[in-house]
Amino acid sequence: MKAIAVEPGAGDPVVVEKPVPEPATGEALVRTLRVGVDGTDHEVIRGAHGELPAGSDRLVLGHEAVGVVEDPNGTDLERGDVVAPTVRRPPNGTNEYFERGEPDMAPEGAYLERGIVGAHGFMAEYFTSPAETLVPVPPELAELGFLVEPISITEKALEHAQAARSTIHWEPESAIVLGNGSLGLVTLAMFEEVLDIERTYCLGKRDRPDPSIDLIDDLGATYIDSRETSVPEIPDAHESMDLVYEATGYAKHPFDTVEALAPNGVGALVGVPDDWSFEIDGGRLHRELVLHNKALVGTVNSNRGHFEAAVDTLTSIPEWVTDDLVTGVYGLEEFERAFERNESVIKTAVEFDTR
Ligand code: NAP
Ligand code: BGC
Ligand code: ZN
Repeated sequence: MKAIAVEPGAGDPVVVEKPVPEPATGEALVRTLRVGVDGTDHEVIRGAHGELPAGSDRLVLGHEAVGVVEDPNGTDLERGDVVAPTVRRPPNGTNEYFERGEPDMAPEGAYLERGIVGAHGFMAEYFTSPAETLVPVPPELAELGFLVEPISITEKALEHAQAARSTIHWEPESAIVLGNGSLGLVTLAMFEEVLDIERTYCLGKRDRPDPSIDLIDDLGATYIDSRETSVPEIPDAHESMDLVYEATGYAKHPFDTVEALAPNGVGALVGVPDDWSFEIDGGRLHRELVLHNKALVGTVNSNRGHFEAAVDTLTSIPEWVTDDLVTGVYGLEEFERAFERNESVIKTAVEFDTR
């Protein structure tokens, strides 16, 4: 079978030949339909994040997949079921995080991530996976099922943000997404279309005309250009925010978030930055956090429950939004186009097969 693999930090992804994998006991064989590409894949390609599988000099990419069960192999799944795989796997056998159903809370060393950290991903014509990691997707959502994983990231982030305020009455009326990449925009769509937050904003650093800014406008949110209004200036220029969702990976933004938050507000941080040293006024930020009951929560990955919630969310996102969000789906013969980055690209996927 064909797979898309990369030597991290040493060039572009290429198509390689690999044997069709054999499912072990408890695993099913899945025929891949589509696999999405996100900022993390680009970080993996340039060697800034992730790890090769032991003994391999190339990593099969892809962690946002949807496929069809080809061989249930004695599991409770049925041939033809449409499924989205979770991302983390235990490194050897299992461990307490996986046993509790909380692989997303496992510390470094206690997990592998398919397509990212030490395990091959889903960008192949077939993949195997334990049945409990395969989350059912309604067949009518098969084409968009590669959005379940990124939505699940935000399901977890919002669950943890909400949990930080669960002892008080907290209903965010103002919210901003920092970052107009694919994760930022999918999250903005959730704020608007699912959570029904009254006033929403999205931060970018691009000029109009731009398809991501058009989507922000069409969702009814306000676009803020960080080159004109920095994050700490947002309260004066617009208003302070009950909820900030950071999806830029720009290392100053977590600290700026403290300044943009309203009293009792929460900032959820998902961006993964490179190393960067800079000066901050730590005293001021510390004081802001304490005297205004502000919270910052870092969050990574997602578990099966978040995937299940994401499937529900995906059913509530209107078709016009996903039509505008997904700017390209490419077959294996032109898979390179799924990795192109320019201003007309929001979300892309590689298509391996159709249902
Ligand atoms: P992405 O496509 O690279 O999006 C990042 C966006 O932020 C880009 O659109 C970029 O604008 C914008 N941006 C960067 N710096 C900015 C600044 N100073 N002001 C305004 N906008 C700025 O990545 P993604 O796939 O959406 O993911 C977002 C981040 O989350 C990445 O760091 C990724 O690694 C991380 N991530 C984390 C998790 C998790 O589990 N925690 C899951 C998925 C992704 P331009 O395009 O104009 O440069
Ligand atoms: C993936 C997560 C993963 C994170 C860190 C993200 O792009 O969606 O599943 O945990 O990167 O590697
Ligand atoms: Zn991702």
